[in-house]
Amino acid sequence: MRTYKYRLYPTRKQQETLQWTLDRTRELYNAALQERRDTWAIIKHHPNFYDEEWRKQAIKDHGRSCYGQINQLPEVKEVRDEYNDIYSQVLQETLKRVDKAYKAFFRRVQNGEKAGYPRYQGRDRYHSFCYPQSGFSLEGNRLVLSKIGHLKIKVHRPVQGTIKTCTIKREGDCWYVCFSGEIEASQEKHTPYTDEAVGIDLGLCHFVALSTGDIIENPRFFRQAEKKITGMQQELARKKRGSKRRKKTVKRLSKAYRKVRNQRQDFLHQWSRCLVNTYETIVFEDLAPSKMSKAPKPKQEKETGASLPNGASKKAGLNTSILDAGWSTFMNLCEYKAACAGVVQVKKVDPYKTSQVCSGCLHEGPHKDLSERVHTCENCGLVLDRDINAAMNILAVWNGLNLRPTPKTTKKKTQARTEPSEDAPLRSPRL
Ligand SMILES: [Zn+2]
Repeated sequence: MRTYKYRLYPTRKQQETLQWTLDRTRELYNAALQERRDTWAIIKHHPNFYDEEWRKQAIKDHGRSCYGQINQLPEVKEVRDEYNDIYSQVLQETLKRVDKAYKAFFRRVQNGEKAGYPRYQGRDRYHSFCYPQSGFSLEGNRLVLSKIGHLKIKVHRPVQGTIKTCTIKREGDCWYVCFSGEIEASQEKHTPYTDEAVGIDLGLCHFVALSTGDIIENPRFFRQAEKKITGMQQELARKKRGSKRRKKTVKRLSKAYRKVRNQRQDFLHQWSRCLVNTYETIVFEDLAPSKMSKAPKPKQEKETGASLPNGASKKAGLNTSILDAGWSTFMNLCEYKAACAGVVQVKKVDPYKTSQVCSGCLHEGPHKDLSERVHTCENCGLVLDRDINAAMNILAVWNGLNLRPTPKTTKKKTQARTEPSEDAPLRSPRL
C-alpha cells in the first residue's frame, strides 16, 4: 500500500465548498456517534441485557451497527436536504469511521488497555473526508470530485499502480489530496551501489552517524524554526482567549509548524533514499521508546552540590518533538524504500552497551554523559566521535558480536568482559 499526497489549489468558492462538505461530514460523524451512545445507554439498562440473543437483535434494531446507520442515510437526506449535495459514498465512509472508532474502543477494552471512549469531533480535530471507491478522477492538472467540481492540482510526481481511495484533507489553510493504492514492489526495483552493510547510530550530537565515519548533521533549519516557534508560542500565551489577534497568531503558528514539518519530511526522504541506494544492509539500533523521550539524569558537582549542565535543554521542547520523531520516521522510510527496492534489507540490533564499548579493542569504558562527544579509549588509545564509535559497534553486533552478558556469567561479568583477551576475534576499525 502506498499513499501519494498532492497539493490542491481550490478557488475561493471551491474552498468554501470543501469546508462546507467537511463540516457536514463532521456533523454526521457526531450525530452517528450520539446515536450509538444513546442506544447503548438504552440497551445497557434494559432488563434483558444479559440475554445475548436479545442484545444482538436490539443492537441491530436500533441501528447501532454500521450498516444500520448507512441504511438510514436516505432518511437523513429527506430531513436534511443539503446532504443530497454530498457524494453518498463520502457519507458512508464517514459512518464507517464511527464504526472503526467504536471497534477500536471495544478492542482496547477487551485487551484491558487504556480505552478512551470515541470522541465528538470539534472543528479543530476533524480534517478530512474520503471518496472510498469512486466519484473522483484525475484529468491532467485537474482533480474532478463528484458534487464538488474540477480542482486545480499539482501532480509533482506520477501516481504508480492503481488508486483505490481519495482523501481530501485540510492542513491549516492548505488543501491536499491523498491517493492510496497498491503497487507491486517490482515496479521500483533497483540494486544498491555497493553490497556492503552499514551501521547507523541515531546520534545525540548529530542526526545520525554511519559506521563508515560519515556523519549526517541535523539541518540548520530545525534550530531556526525552533527559535521562531518558541517566540510565537510566547506571543500566543499573552493573547486573550477568543480574540482576533490570538486567532491570527494561531494561524501563523500552524503555518510555521507546517513549514518545518515539510522541511523535515524532505530531509528524511532524501537521506533515506541515499542510504537505500548505497548499501545493501542497513543496521539500526532497536530503539526503545524510552530513549526517545527520557530526560537525562540531573548532574551535580561533587563538592558543592551545585547543578551542572546535563544536556537536558538540548533534548527539551521542540527538539524532542521534531528530532526524535524524525528518527522513527527515518527508520520507517528506510524500511519501506528498502522493501520497494527488493534487494536492500533493514535490520535492527540490540543497542546494549554499543555506546560504552570501544569499537577498536572491545574495552568497556565508563558510561558517557550526553555532553561527552568524543570516545577516548583508555585501553588502546582510540579517539573517535562517540556516535561513529557507536555506529561501528552496531555494525559489529549485526556481524555477530555479543555485548550482552549471558545469564550464567552475569555475576562476575565486569571483570571477565572488560579485559580484552588476546584471542578474542577483533574487528579492525575502518578509519
Ligand atoms: Zn579501545
